[in-house]
Amino acid sequence: MLPSSPLPMNKEAPPQPASAAIPLFLPQLATLREWLRRHGARTCHEERVLRAWCQVRSLDNRHSASENFLPLALRGALPDIEAQLEGLARVVSEHPGEDGSARLLVGLADGQTVESVLLPRDGVCVSTQVGCAVGCVFCMTGKDGLLRQLGSAEIVAQVVLARRRRPVKKVVFMGMGEPAHNLDNVLEAIDFLGTLGGIGHKNLVFSTVGDPRVFERLGQGPVKPALALSLHSTRAELRAELLPRAPRMTPEELVAAGEAYARATGYPIQYQWTLIDGVNDSEEELEGIVRLLSGKYALMNMIPYNSVAALPYRRPDPEKARAIARWLHERRILTKLRNSAGQDIDGGCGQLRARITVDRHIAAKSRRQPGTTSTDDCQASLPGASQH
Ligand code: SF4
Repeated sequence: MLPSSPLPMNKEAPPQPASAAIPLFLPQLATLREWLRRHGARTCHEERVLRAWCQVRSLDNRHSASENFLPLALRGALPDIEAQLEGLARVVSEHPGEDGSARLLVGLADGQTVESVLLPRDGVCVSTQVGCAVGCVFCMTGKDGLLRQLGSAEIVAQVVLARRRRPVKKVVFMGMGEPAHNLDNVLEAIDFLGTLGGIGHKNLVFSTVGDPRVFERLGQGPVKPALALSLHSTRAELRAELLPRAPRMTPEELVAAGEAYARATGYPIQYQWTLIDGVNDSEEELEGIVRLLSGKYALMNMIPYNSVAALPYRRPDPEKARAIARWLHERRILTKLRNSAGQDIDGGCGQLRARITVDRHIAAKSRRQPGTTSTDDCQASLPGASQH
């Protein structure tokens, strides 16, 4: 809801009729802005309304009350605008974790759902797609492929939902989906959050499996986010097996492009390594990490895999994971051993959505064949956790 002051009506001009003005679905910030302009907003008005929305603040500020500032037509349309913004995303369910995080299952206007995660220290992890086309073999989110892109306004709306629950000073684009495959919308959301959204540029973290288009465009915008690269292996052939539809950049090419971006922006690259027992935890891999990252402006995040029943991959023993992080650290590779936020809630990102899909699937199947379906039957064929 837009926190606004009461809007006095006067007779300057009649407000726009609500039903004629409300479009059904405006998932892009650019179309949202255009719609505001059609209601009489100039740039300064548009920014005031969008800033109040994104920062969950009053439309009034200490210099002027909104009724003295916004044009009458726009004031008359505020209930419609509020309905439009409210309709972008809503919390279907909230699941607090033991580590201070909370997973939100977020419903979109067309009935699709994605997940956002409220992170312990004033952060939020947002989704950028429904589904994912990269198809990482250890991740259930990508199993059904890409269902649809999220619009830039839908991405920002996840931050607004988070800010209604707690302060947000950091946004990571590591939820469901591959941001590089929805680049225009993600970059539009980043520019918005880094300006009207009031988030520090280095606290916006673009996470990707690596794509030449990302390296071309990320540094061109007014807001330059930090970059997280999902590496997962230093061996090109194994990486191609694990991430079958990721662009074919070798680990060496990825690190070279990442290093150039880190030096240009002044923020270190965060390498993501989902640590899978017996797959990418060999001595050869660890030596490969030292070879690739020695002397680089980088941080290695080792994230032990969240096991999913339907997949054959396993989480390494905690002591082994600690020993790996220690071994790298001793070789001057800045390494952090991390757990996915809220993993006690249900494995990993995508599981809540999977559960809803399972429930719907069970309900539909039960209607067709009453009494013949169990949860286990359904889970094997349905999407589950993303494992960035
Ligand atoms: S790990 Fe990320 S990039 Fe890979 S399939 Fe899952 S959501 Fe897509």
